[in-house]
Amino acid sequence: MKSHAKVVVIGGGVVGASVLYHLTKAGWKDVLLVERAELTSGSTWHAAGGMHTINGDPNVAKLQQYTIQLYKEIEQISGQSCGVHITGGIMLAGTRERLDWLKMAQARGRYLGMHLEIISVDEAAKLFPLMDKKHFAGAMYDPIEGHVDPYGVTHAYAKSAQIGGAEIVRKSRVVDLCARPDGSWDVITEQGNVHAEHVVNAAGLWAREVGRMVGIELPILAMEHQYLITGDMPQLAGKKEQLHAIDFEGEIYLRQERGGMLMGTYERAGVPWSPVTTPWDFGQDLLPNDLERIAPSLEVGFEHFPALGNAGIKKVVNGPFTFAPDGNPLIGPIKGLRNFWVACGVMAGFSQGGGVGLALSRWMVEGDPGADIWGMDVARYGDWTTLAYTNAKVRENYSRRFSIRFPNEELTAARPLRTTPIYEKLKAEHAVFGDYCALEHPLWFAPTAAEAKDQVSFRRSNSHPHVARECRTVRDAVGLLEISNYGKFEVRGPGAAEWLSRMMANRVPAVGRIALTPMLNARGKLIGDFTMCRPSQDHIFLIGTYAAETYYMRWFERHLPPAGVSVRPCAMEYAGLSIAGPHSRALLQSVVRDDLATAAFPFMSFRRMEIGMVPGYVGRVSFTGDLGFEIWVTSDYQRALYDLLVEAGREYGLKPFGGRALNAMRIEKSFGTWAREYRPIYGPFEAGLGRFVDFKKGDFIGRSAAAEEKDGGGALRLVCFQVAATDADAIGDEPIWHDGKTVGWVTSGAFGHRVGESLALGYVPASLAASDGGFEIEIIGERHAAARLTGAAFDPNGALMRA
Ligand SMILES: Cc1cc2nc3c(=O)[nH]c(=O)nc-3n(C[C@H](O)[C@H](O)[C@H](O)COP(=O)(O)OP(=O)(O)OC[C@H]3O[C@@H](n4cnc5c(N)ncnc54)[C@H](O)[C@@H]3O)c2cc1C
Repeated sequence: MKSHAKVVVIGGGVVGASVLYHLTKAGWKDVLLVERAELTSGSTWHAAGGMHTINGDPNVAKLQQYTIQLYKEIEQISGQSCGVHITGGIMLAGTRERLDWLKMAQARGRYLGMHLEIISVDEAAKLFPLMDKKHFAGAMYDPIEGHVDPYGVTHAYAKSAQIGGAEIVRKSRVVDLCARPDGSWDVITEQGNVHAEHVVNAAGLWAREVGRMVGIELPILAMEHQYLITGDMPQLAGKKEQLHAIDFEGEIYLRQERGGMLMGTYERAGVPWSPVTTPWDFGQDLLPNDLERIAPSLEVGFEHFPALGNAGIKKVVNGPFTFAPDGNPLIGPIKGLRNFWVACGVMAGFSQGGGVGLALSRWMVEGDPGADIWGMDVARYGDWTTLAYTNAKVRENYSRRFSIRFPNEELTAARPLRTTPIYEKLKAEHAVFGDYCALEHPLWFAPTAAEAKDQVSFRRSNSHPHVARECRTVRDAVGLLEISNYGKFEVRGPGAAEWLSRMMANRVPAVGRIALTPMLNARGKLIGDFTMCRPSQDHIFLIGTYAAETYYMRWFERHLPPAGVSVRPCAMEYAGLSIAGPHSRALLQSVVRDDLATAAFPFMSFRRMEIGMVPGYVGRVSFTGDLGFEIWVTSDYQRALYDLLVEAGREYGLKPFGGRALNAMRIEKSFGTWAREYRPIYGPFEAGLGRFVDFKKGDFIGRSAAAEEKDGGGALRLVCFQVAATDADAIGDEPIWHDGKTVGWVTSGAFGHRVGESLALGYVPASLAASDGGFEIEIIGERHAAARLTGAAFDPNGALMRA
């Protein structure tokens, strides 16, 4: 084994082999894969090998499409067959809700270039005669589904990588990893040590253990998973290979395996495997069968597909594979560790392995994954993903693999875990809570405790009239919102402003002022949006998205100079309350001594104040677009601040409002938000943030790319539409049509209660952005006329917030 390599990839499952291949393809030849046993010795060898393009995150779906298209390429390079069978697949809906869900998936597929088709039960039965029609309401057909041979795929990647210059060492376990001061690694293996510039943890079932070698606890857990293969079935003899099928109500998937059928299930009572430590001596082993556990699914399966019940069971496979809490992969560099990368938690290696390898290799070689991989970025998780939390969420995710997640559905596992000091007080006001990074935050307020529950739906739900009331309160009087779930960072030091000026596209505000700013990567794409508040010369208080805290800190740390400036995440140290509406100033004025008149404290001011007995920061800004204030206090004061505002607010008609009302109101104002309107696939001018890019202030990351975008106009435009919707509003990811063609996609949507219209924000080609007519938005399979608005739907000139 060589003693030095540019990269050591740990693990020769399908994911490690794909990473290795993609690194050679990207031009890095001095790459070594170290495998503790033989290739495929983790979850890969006993996988069912199924692959499909559908994913809840459109960006992950694109990488799945890439993976499936890649098999031809690696077969050609390596001469190794991947055993690809493209059979096509059908997803069977047993209920109207499921059919709605399929229609939404089909619609999303349109702008991803997928050719999905909604078909009737009769058409489905023609394609998949094993089904008993009476259990189904409709189906979706996908021509690009099928299965591969897991051994063949892994070896095709491995051979292609070796042809590209990579080396593979088998039967050599990595037992330790030691960081050198220069950021490189000593990889200690059973066959000797390798000095590597970079290490990739692709250790699959053992990724947690490899993470622990460098002091991190990755949020992944293996679950036992069973499938069975029936005896040969006369119904299949001499016929074309059967389609893949998913029966959502039965929670089972099916495909042909030689003369019989393979049937797998994601049962409700899933069982974790090795919840704390994965044994090193587990190899190409199977776990004992437990048919009793999957009996409820099998019963439904045999009822829905009667021929399978008569075919007998030839073989049962029970094997473990890993999941992250949300079921998507974990990839990318780890904050705080130099040159240490992960590619693990990949639960669908044969749909996602290629995309994971592509994104990670680009990230390593070019410094950027080259695609929007936020949904797979390891940095989407933070400190809250303890072992027990991960266990609860992974079990929940596994059990819901084939369940519908409604847009207003909040999952219940591991809750409540994190709460703010006013949690019980908000509960007493009948708040319905959402879970955001394991932190409870109010979504809406019901009139009574009995009504404080979401009835899940794709259409306007039971919260609609209550959210309407909250929006009217903000429009006509004053509303109070808990905003503790924002991300917060303190940037301090004599070099703070200069450093931040280089990190952010906008000018750092003067002392006592606030400025909004995009953060760009070197390609000039949006990687964050922040509110910069400057309490003093050497102190800037940054407010951004809490879910992206680790993602931001990883970027900040990478660009911090050795001295003169420090950045500290402090989201949970500061709790926040926002008051918004025409009476907000009078209310706040009644409890502070500072003059809040516009002349003394204009829009976008920021100042330390005493609010009653509570010391805090007050910013004159509101995400609802009204006259409003955001108040930040250390968490120990939040209860007192809340009580003070509620008491003083009685006179002004103060009522609480929640995240749903906020979402509706920010859409009325065309204010975008991270992970919806602002993502690394959009530039600031496309996203309508051009006015916050200051080319006069000097250099900043992404400046030249942003200047190019400005000159060229960018390819896309974020547009607000007024939609002629009936009982369901857009929520995000719906296609936007223009003159009969799909031209764009919705990023957010809601009913705008202040303006009384259904609204949607979305991207369309820049060339169409000025078109006045011809737009439609497809909501649950129905196209609705959409009028493009030239400004925000509510208070387009921003007079209210400046008043
Ligand atoms: C029953 C079952 C059915 C499945 N069906 C499908 C399906 O139909 N479609 C699909 O896409 N996916 C399916 N999967 C999931 C699929 O198997 C995984 O997505 C995939 O195998 C993950 O691959 P990996 O490379 O990340 O991990 P693994 O396959 O676990 O590979 C990790 C490798 O790293 C090696 N390793 C670990 N630690 C070290 C170390 N310290 N030093 C050296 N080497 C190390 C291991 O020996 C192993 O070879 C199924 C899984 C199971 C169990």
